[in-house]
Amino acid sequence: MTDEELYESMTVFHSTGQDSWPQATQDQWNDHRWQLKNRVSSLAALEDRMELSAEERAGVLLAGHKLAMSITPHFFQLIDRDDPDCPIRRQVIPRIEEGWTAPEEMADPCGEDSHMPVPGLVHRYPDRVLFLVTDRCASYCRYCTRSRVVSGVGDQQLEIQWEAAFRYLEQHQEVRDVLLSGGDPLLLSDDKLDRILTRLRAIPHIQFVRIGSRIPIFLPQRITPELCAILQKHHPLFVSIHTNHPKELTTEVRAGLERLANAGIPLGNQSVLLRGINDSPLIQRALVHKLLMCRVRPYYLYQCDLINGSSHLRTPVATGLSIIEQLRGHTTGYGIPQYVIDGPGGGGKIPLNPEYILNRQPGRVILRNYENEVFEYPDPQPIPEEALRELHHLTQQSNEPDHVGHPISATL
Ligand code: SF4
Repeated sequence: MTDEELYESMTVFHSTGQDSWPQATQDQWNDHRWQLKNRVSSLAALEDRMELSAEERAGVLLAGHKLAMSITPHFFQLIDRDDPDCPIRRQVIPRIEEGWTAPEEMADPCGEDSHMPVPGLVHRYPDRVLFLVTDRCASYCRYCTRSRVVSGVGDQQLEIQWEAAFRYLEQHQEVRDVLLSGGDPLLLSDDKLDRILTRLRAIPHIQFVRIGSRIPIFLPQRITPELCAILQKHHPLFVSIHTNHPKELTTEVRAGLERLANAGIPLGNQSVLLRGINDSPLIQRALVHKLLMCRVRPYYLYQCDLINGSSHLRTPVATGLSIIEQLRGHTTGYGIPQYVIDGPGGGGKIPLNPEYILNRQPGRVILRNYENEVFEYPDPQPIPEEALRELHHLTQQSNEPDHVGHPISATL
């Protein structure tokens, strides 16, 4: 297959079908509660449906002590059961490599625990707060940066002190932006979400709220008209979804995203750059184009955090820079995410860009464009006194009574 044929095939929207669950009725399949109840969460359930490699089987056995395995039927349907390198499979089926902790890896790579004034609230940047409202997700990503608390099987538990968290937000007038995350906030019931959002909206200095969620990808059936009606009550509210590969954008996902967009919710996407999954310019191009077709703006491309057991999924930084280089100028600007590294240990997001400034000198900068053509851009200089005097002189002439009545603008 040529690159163009591969690109074409990746940008088509498909339905997942339900061939691994032939007994499920259409109503059951489309019900998010049925999807959650029927998640693939054990070795037996997985081996009932596919053959695992030795690396995967060992990974599943080890996962119960670190980060649970759970895969919604919807997402499972995307797995190529004949391809051990399937990009969907590698995101949710544990592998033995997860058991190895490289020297540079950490349990809390973004230093969140040291920025928690109240359990569940991370206050790292002056004007915005991350509010962890649950430790559960519909499926679990093997590279999850919060795997120390997510899924409930690791060493740490997420302890949320709701009243203390709301009181902190009420008292801290510098907080204007709250990001609900977890775990996955859209896994909470409609009522609970409504209560949280209502309470936040009652705080006058909170200007807007964001929700970070992978539910539109793992469980699009959860994006019900009822949920959208609740979210719509709490504008301005943004939703950041999380998708890594164009295959994840199915017809069901597109319909869910459309419901969110029609509720007036601005949608952005956060991807993680993952080795063997999406670390090619072609896959990234197909992904960002498909996102735009779903009315989602590609927002961030994250360098994978130094989370324990992630070395088999991390790429060199040069790979990310090269991908951005091959997008910038070659496709719609709206389609280019900002590539970032979360500074290890709690440094916050650091943007990474290919080098377009070749040289900076006093009064000028030497640049290159996406085709490597070189340009000089001079800085602005003060207007010469003599030119200003001449302009004043002309002004005096135009101030004659004959000129004053002339129209300034052109007539249509
Ligand atoms: S959905 Fe988000 S919080 Fe949940 S496992 Fe994946 S990356 Fe972690």
